[in-house]
Amino acid sequence: DAFGIRQSLQKIGVQSENLGSSTGLNWLDSGASYLSSFSPADGKLIAKVQPTNPETYEAIIAQSQAAFEKWKTVPAPQRGEIVREIGNALREVKADLGKLVSYEMGKSYQEGLGEVQEMIDICDFAVGLSRQLYGLTMHSERPGHRMYEQWHPLGIVGIISAFNFPVAVWSWNAALAWVCGDVCVWKPSEKAPLSAVACQHIAAKVFAEHGMPEGISNLIVGDYKVGELMSHDPRVSLVSATGSTRMGKLVAKAVGERLGRSLLELGGNNAIIITENADMDIAIRGALFGAVGTAGQRCTTTRRLIIQENVYEEVKTRLASAYSKLVIGNPLDEKNHVGPLIDEGAVESYLTAIEKVKTAGGKEVVPGGVVSGEGYESGCYVKPAIFEAENHFEIVQHETFAPILYLIKYKTLPEAIALQNGVPQGLSSAIMTTNMREAEAFLAATGSDCGIANVNIGTSGAEIGGAFGGEKETGGGRESGSDAWRAYMRRQTNTINYSTSLPLAQGIKFDI
Ligand code: NAD
Repeated sequence: DAFGIRQSLQKIGVQSENLGSSTGLNWLDSGASYLSSFSPADGKLIAKVQPTNPETYEAIIAQSQAAFEKWKTVPAPQRGEIVREIGNALREVKADLGKLVSYEMGKSYQEGLGEVQEMIDICDFAVGLSRQLYGLTMHSERPGHRMYEQWHPLGIVGIISAFNFPVAVWSWNAALAWVCGDVCVWKPSEKAPLSAVACQHIAAKVFAEHGMPEGISNLIVGDYKVGELMSHDPRVSLVSATGSTRMGKLVAKAVGERLGRSLLELGGNNAIIITENADMDIAIRGALFGAVGTAGQRCTTTRRLIIQENVYEEVKTRLASAYSKLVIGNPLDEKNHVGPLIDEGAVESYLTAIEKVKTAGGKEVVPGGVVSGEGYESGCYVKPAIFEAENHFEIVQHETFAPILYLIKYKTLPEAIALQNGVPQGLSSAIMTTNMREAEAFLAATGSDCGIANVNIGTSGAEIGGAFGGEKETGGGRESGSDAWRAYMRRQTNTINYSTSLPLAQGIKFDI
């Protein structure tokens, strides 16, 4: 335990890691055999977590249904007060939870801390929101009538999350869902279950301290089969699923068949357009962090650089030089820039993608490869690679969840925008330019077709205040800031007649 993970777990309040299903302080024994979580940093076993089985799942849903009856009667600002306390509890364990996330998922310690900060930020956002769940009032066409809309809690919100943001994605959903009056059932990635166990301890304690019943924050653990229990379950009003497009299509189908609601946050294939009017220092730094941060395992990772031909060689040379200075190694050691991929399966996908881009005719700029030797025993460390490629290559059209960057050349801005939009995904996009006309053209209705479009910022690193999500195969969902909260509530339109007659809408006559 060179990194003090056990001490951190103790500080967070995790007494035993052999836990899995929970309604809060109550941990349920499913009797199922344990799932192991290994650290991609050093390949060591971190913990064993017990998967949820159908019986335990039933017990959790029953408890959460009962909890919803109570929770929805608590005034929203009071619900916000409890979420404020959860934010404060997270502040107290920021360093410990950040370290655990870094060790279990493999992102740098700084990014682990950033992820916990994001959880704190969304709690703060939700506290303010708890007094702003506004509906509209409308003018009725009928005399002596008043019309308005209000937003009511939805019920059980199922949260399915991906490995790469093992804790933040839960909080984006849960903090909002709670102030909206919903109860949450979270199925974290089976690749990072211990971070979820830790979060459940933090939230459960706060709910209990406020005398709230078990079942407002619930945890279920396991692979896709446990996720399927929720997507097929009509008692789960909303399934918010973050992960691959493949998973999203399956979840959308299952939830759609029962006419439930789903909120999908799926894969991206994000590009930065670098024009000849770019501030080159910003462009290079933005592209570098976008492409190699989190070892290329962000949904918003920069996967394609679309570069104007006059600055193409300069960008290529400067990026190659920046890549040569990257230090690959243990994410908890702050001198390293690039940590490991999540597991050996991810390393396989990375190697296959490199083979495919070469076969398609891609030209190597910075070679890839697996790093071996002392400190790299987990077998999960790979070299960030750059290839010159063409947008239509089949491999370029796909998201490979690894640090592989494709360089694509363009002549005119409309051509660049067409290339940027010419993929099945639509999450994040950016343009590097100091020219106002270029920037505005990129942001116009005829510009980027993505959910996120930035100017002089890379594609990754969104703030929680904006609505987060993307179009096309990214799934169309929006989470986090702006009015994303509406997905977690049901809208009710109310018309009140305070007159002494009963006029019908549209002037319809119906007299006896
Ligand atoms: P994944 O799709 O393999 O798994 C994500 C989650 O879905 C896991 O909890 C998994 O158990 C569950 N799951 C898988 N199949 C399921 C099914 N049929 N029914 C119910 N649940 C199922 O994804 P991953 O490898 O963990 O994460 C990487 C992917 O997530 C990338 O594609 C990335 O772009 C995407 N992602 C998107 C966002 C976003 O906000 N758009 C954020 C983070 C990650």
